[in-house]
Amino acid sequence: MSRTDELTFDPSALSAAQQKGDSCVACHKKWPRPRVRVGCLPGGSGVFACADCAPALSGPLVPEHITAVMVPEGASR
Ligand SMILES: [Zn+2]
Repeated sequence: MSRTDELTFDPSALSAAQQKGDSCVACHKKWPRPRVRVGCLPGGSGVFACADCAPALSGPLVPEHITAVMVPEGASR
């Protein structure tokens, strides 16, 4: 069984800064530094969002520009 409580993001769709957690996965803002972990990369590193974007990412209605960079569940391999 895999842990599916976290969103998985497609690293190829993220900038280097986003992959390192240096910029918000939603709005690319680097300052203030994103602090809210909203998901992870397939490799296990955390993906972060700023306080403004995090609520949208954890809610039922994830903005389309975010779902575009997420790995759909069940699409592993
Ligand atoms: Zn943001």
